[in-house]
Order: sequence, then C-alpha cells, then structure tokens
Amino acid sequence: MTTLPTLQRELREADVVAVREQLGREPTTQFTVVARCTGGHPLVIRNAPVAADGTPFPTTYWLSCPEAVKAVSRVESGGAIAELNAEYETDPGFRAAVDAAHAEAAEDRAGGLPEALGWGGVGGTRRGLKCLHAHYANHLAGGDDVVGRRVAARVEPVHAEGRGGRVAAIDQGTNSCRLLVVEPGAAAGADPAELARDMIITRLGKSVDATGRLDPDALARTIAVLARYCRRARALGAERIRVGATSAVRDAENREEFAAAVREHAGSDLEILSGEHEAALSYLGATHGLDAADGPFLVLDIGGGSTEFVVGTAPGRAEHAISTRMGSVRMTERWLAHDPSTAADLGALEAEVQGVLDEAAAAVPVASARTFVSVAGTATTLQSIALGLVRYDPDLIHRTWLGLEAAERVTADLLAMTNAERAALPTMAPGRGDVIVAGAIILVAVMRRFGFARTLVSETDILDGLAFEAIGVG
Ligand SMILES: [Zn+2]
Repeated sequence: MTTLPTLQRELREADVVAVREQLGREPTTQFTVVARCTGGHPLVIRNAPVAADGTPFPTTYWLSCPEAVKAVSRVESGGAIAELNAEYETDPGFRAAVDAAHAEAAEDRAGGLPEALGWGGVGGTRRGLKCLHAHYANHLAGGDDVVGRRVAARVEPVHAEGRGGRVAAIDQGTNSCRLLVVEPGAAAGADPAELARDMIITRLGKSVDATGRLDPDALARTIAVLARYCRRARALGAERIRVGATSAVRDAENREEFAAAVREHAGSDLEILSGEHEAALSYLGATHGLDAADGPFLVLDIGGGSTEFVVGTAPGRAEHAISTRMGSVRMTERWLAHDPSTAADLGALEAEVQGVLDEAAAAVPVASARTFVSVAGTATTLQSIALGLVRYDPDLIHRTWLGLEAAERVTADLLAMTNAERAALPTMAPGRGDVIVAGAIILVAVMRRFGFARTLVSETDILDGLAFEAIGVG
C-alpha cells in the first residue's frame, strides 16, 4: 500500500489560484512554491511525491511560469534533447554528472517517503534526459543539475522586467535554516520583490547548550540544506549570498567548521551576529512598513537559543535591545525532558523564564511599547493553531492579532499533548513539535508580565532584516 505523504506545510491560497491558472487545470498534487518570478507569480513549485489519489508523482520540481515553460519549449524544439543525449552517450564526464543529478533528485524526493527512491531521477527519468523543463526546474530549486544549468544559459532572462541587484539572505538559527532571495523594488522606497523564501528545521543547535559544540550529524544536515539554498539563490540570479548565524553558532567552539562550509557554498564569510545586531535586524524586518503612529514598538524574537527584546519609537530603527540566553530549544533541552511535561518540569521552566523577564525589564523599556510585535516560528505557529488553519498560509497569519486568551488556550492545548501529537498538527513544521511548548510559555509569560492583551504576529523578521540591510532598505 502506498503511504500518503504528510500534508505539505506551507501554501498560500493566492498561489493555489495562480498555479491553477498557470496549469489551466486543478493541480493534482499538493505543492509548495520554491521560486518566483519578479512579478511574484510562482516560477517553480515542489510537488508532493504522491498525488491526492495515491498515484506516484515522480516530477518533484515543476516549472509553472508559462513564459519560462515557453522559453524551455523553444530550446527543446531546437533539438537540444537529442544533442544532449548524444553527449551523454559519448562523454563519460557529462554522463556521470547527469547520473549524479538523477541520484540527488531521487534522494530529495524520497525525504519522508523511502519508496520514492526507486521512481527514477529528475522528472522520473532513469537514464539520459527526457524533459528539459524538469531539469531547469530542478536547477532553479537548488539541484546540482548540469542539464538544468545548460538550459538556463540558453533561456534566461525569461522576463524582461528583471531589475538586477538580487541578493540572498540565509538565517542560520539554533532550530531552523531559512532562505530569502529578493530583488530591490523598482522605485526608491518600494518593497523588494520576493523570489524565494524557505525554511527547514535542522536543529543545528542540538546539545550546544550542554556540550558547547555543534553536533556532527546536525552540522552535516545543516550544510546539505545550506548548499542547496546557495545553489537555488545563484540559479535565481543572486549576486551576493549573506549568511548570518545566531545563538547556536555563536556559542559553539567548533563554529569554524560551519564557517568553512559557508565560504565554500555561499562564497562569503559567515556573519556571526552579535545579540545586539541580531536584535536590530529582527526589529528592522518586523517593523518595516508599520505605521509610525502605532509606536513605540516592542519586537519579541523567540529563537531556538536566544530571545531578543527590542524597543524602538519608529519602524525600522531599534533603540533598546537585549538578547537573552532563553530559547525554545535551549529551554526544552534544559527543563522539558519528559513527554508530556510534568508539573515540576514546567515549574522549573517558568521560574527561569520569570528571571529572564526581570533581566529584560531592567535593560529595555518593554512596558513603554504601545504595539507588541511577535516574530519567528513559535508565534506564527501558535497563531496558525489559534486561527484553526488546516494548512500553513503565511498570508493569513502575517500582521494579524493574537489575543492573550487565545495564546493561553493554545498553549494549554499544546501542553496536554505528546510530542507526537503536536508534530501531527497540520500547521506544525517538521521538527518544531517538541520545542513549541517552551516557546509558547515564553510568549504567554511576556504578555502577562508586561500587560499586553494582544500581539501583532509577523512573518517578517531577522531574515528580512538581513536582506533589507543588504539592499539598503530601512
Ligand atoms: Zn514568470
């Protein structure tokens, strides 16, 4: 029996509409968007390996932009497939590279569905190459695909309106690794266009609190994601890739191992962000575009290894900040060893949180804020549950209000579940189910302690701050 894949986590309703229009029919598999064109429409989507009716679906990455599809079709009709297959038969180096691309694509598809490993490589092909659209899409998604690169050299640029100056930002946190690729806005002050945004939980900070070192398996997982992100960024025309790392890497003795991988894949030096810089970037990303009349703002960034409290009068520029060593991964490892948590575990955690809030209140005028903005996965996931979403749609979460009572209710519900039950929630990112309890307790404690009846939940945060700073927005 074929196992149905888990629900794809993140999908915007607007993208479902756009892809339906691009395909001219209802999509048959669940998908997420991995790359966009300048105009914001989906360029490449990632399909679930199995369709809704259980049929295997071997084409993981699908070129969806009609202009790009036409451009690749022109290359195909010029005889490129026969030409490349002849090269595949006669050039062992090229053949090895194509076979490697197929093997990598099969492994990528099989993540979470081992039986999918046997469904062929790029686009389901077993030998040589059949569909240049599939190879080009695989290349744009970050696959190491020699055929995709050849196609790219012949079709780009697909749209004339591309403005150049594209940059990529990668935020390497304690729990997650995230990518954002942007193009500067057309006019001064205009918002940048988002070409890719992605998040994978690799738990790089696993055990750093206890050992002071990055765990070898976590490091290998993270570097594989980093390499793929960097290839995608470059395929999308990023001229510069900026990698910022926060708490876990900052605290690890062997951070040079990660820094070497960043130099290799991103072609830039790893930026180990100080707590202060981290706070300023979170504030920039979270408040950009908010109404100055709603200030002062408090931005709370609950990360895996640290939590930042940042206050500013106006959007964009932080004035007071503290980075505390309180994070969802760190607190879970330290206090929440049992599943489900015991009252004693929770009491100990709560006591440490209250101590950190004393420290934050002494350093930053937290209570002076009129608008309380919450960023990062804890807050956005709580809000997805509070809103009862059946899939994670960032458009329905970004800049919506989460009330204290709703936050308390969702936290109580999460506390009553096991790790497995939380992980099975439809909007829970893989890898977040165990650490969300500690994060939720921190958020609720901040609201109660400083008298905030509600918080504005923001999808934009330090990752956007990194990208904005790189292109001079803010
Ligand atoms: Zn397009």
